[in-house]
Amino acid sequence: MSSAIVWFRRNLRVSDNSALSAAADSGKRIIPLYVIDELDQGEASRWWLHNSLQALDSTLRDDGGYLLIRSGNPVDVIRDLAEEFDASDVYLSARYEPAAVQQESDLAASDGLTLHIATDYLLIEPGSVLTGGGSPFKVFTPFYKTASSLYVHSTPTAAPADMNYVTPEPAGDRDAHEALLPTLDWADKFPDYWTPGAEGALLRLDEAKAKVPKYDVDRDRPDHDGTSRLSPHLHFGEISVGQAYHALSRQQNAEPLIRQLYWRDFSYHLLSEHPTLPNKPLRSEFDNFPWVEDEEHLKRWQRGRTGYPIVDAGMRQLWHTGWMHNRVRMIVASFLVKHLLIPWQHGADWFLDTLLDADLANNSAGWQWVAGCGTDAAPYFRVFNPILQGQKFDPDGAYVREWVPELEHMPSKFIHEPWTTPNSVQQEYRVVIGEDYPAPIIEHKAARKRALDAYQLSRDLANSAAS
Ligand SMILES: Cc1cc2nc3c(=O)[nH]c(=O)nc-3n(C[C@H](O)[C@H](O)[C@H](O)COP(=O)(O)OP(=O)(O)OC[C@H]3O[C@@H](n4cnc5c(N)ncnc54)[C@H](O)[C@@H]3O)c2cc1C
Repeated sequence: MSSAIVWFRRNLRVSDNSALSAAADSGKRIIPLYVIDELDQGEASRWWLHNSLQALDSTLRDDGGYLLIRSGNPVDVIRDLAEEFDASDVYLSARYEPAAVQQESDLAASDGLTLHIATDYLLIEPGSVLTGGGSPFKVFTPFYKTASSLYVHSTPTAAPADMNYVTPEPAGDRDAHEALLPTLDWADKFPDYWTPGAEGALLRLDEAKAKVPKYDVDRDRPDHDGTSRLSPHLHFGEISVGQAYHALSRQQNAEPLIRQLYWRDFSYHLLSEHPTLPNKPLRSEFDNFPWVEDEEHLKRWQRGRTGYPIVDAGMRQLWHTGWMHNRVRMIVASFLVKHLLIPWQHGADWFLDTLLDADLANNSAGWQWVAGCGTDAAPYFRVFNPILQGQKFDPDGAYVREWVPELEHMPSKFIHEPWTTPNSVQQEYRVVIGEDYPAPIIEHKAARKRALDAYQLSRDLANSAAS
């Protein structure tokens, strides 16, 4: 019987896995494979990947199989394996990051290998949602209207019942698997918050179903646990987006949460259309933006020591849990780019290293949106006021108190602008601003003016270059 390789990528599950099902249906003996490669970056992501591979391996072992983990350039690894085990077919699920797309085309050029590429990472394939004029959408809402009218929903499939594995199990690269774990003890607390693997994903999906009725009200409140927290599971494909859609859409009032799944698609469509999305502003007027390189400010932002409580709470939530609430991602990103004028790419890099859901498409699109340089972007002149954002979305300061313990006892009246607290109150609550908690790194009104001036300058430069 001939054999086939199932190349697991961002589809680390056995149910509703089109590539795995197709391989099982072929009747061939399979080698389930994951190749750790240079695309597996980001300390937090690598922690997740380590655990998710372990979970997938143990699921396959329950079925009498295994997950072969190797490392290196996947194209070389797969070619060697195919030769060794006389495999002529490779089953995989499509990815859309430019370097991953390149891997697919390199592999497709291999002699004697037939690729079977499943497309189940997104709701709709990039390139298939177009305006009446035949071009890709630049703005989310019309994209969403068209994409949701085109999406054909199908019932998720179960794990294949019969799989024949190539035996004996080929030797894997255990060292590379272990090396995914960070050397710092920083990740030790992640298991308190997360369970990587398909089982953990399905539990989160169950919890998300219960959040659907209040999602639209709660989604902007970092002090409420109102969002699904499915992002790392979706990123690694521990549940398919189709499974998420199927489960959520059967709830009443699911549209606001389902809409977010289309934001994920939109980011991927943007990345496919603009492979430079991760590094280069999509709007050319930002080519000459007078960014400020300030190591010290960047460090204070990363460590959650800017003196703006909602910003610091977000950055510390990220450090402790590997995740940050979406509203707060927007606030901290805006603060870095507009208050501190630090290039958005530095913020995006930090997120890619520390987020468990670090995702090239969603992260790049999110940063370009906040910085105002993406296609569908918040206008640059919309500078989030971190004090008002805090007062509006964390009215009692519960979120700040959770992540910035120095301010735990601060009266709500002052929690989002603690530097206005009278000295006597600071003494009473034993938090002296400038000693126990930092004074603001920059004054809000002055920062806002500086940001608007910088934007005007970059527009003037763009205009004079064009004329
Ligand atoms: C600066 C910035 C950087 C971001 N970086 C990432 C990233 O690296 N990885 C990532 O998955 N998301 C990123 N996002 C989008 C969003 O913040 C997260 O997807 C969301 O907070 C995850 O929490 P959740 O699963 O509870 O979301 P829910 O609100 O429950 O949404 C359900 C799912 O929809 C998708 N989704 C939700 N919001 C967005 C969005 N704005 N864009 C794209 N997809 C979305 C996610 O897959 C999410 O799991 C970023 C947003 C910003 C503003």
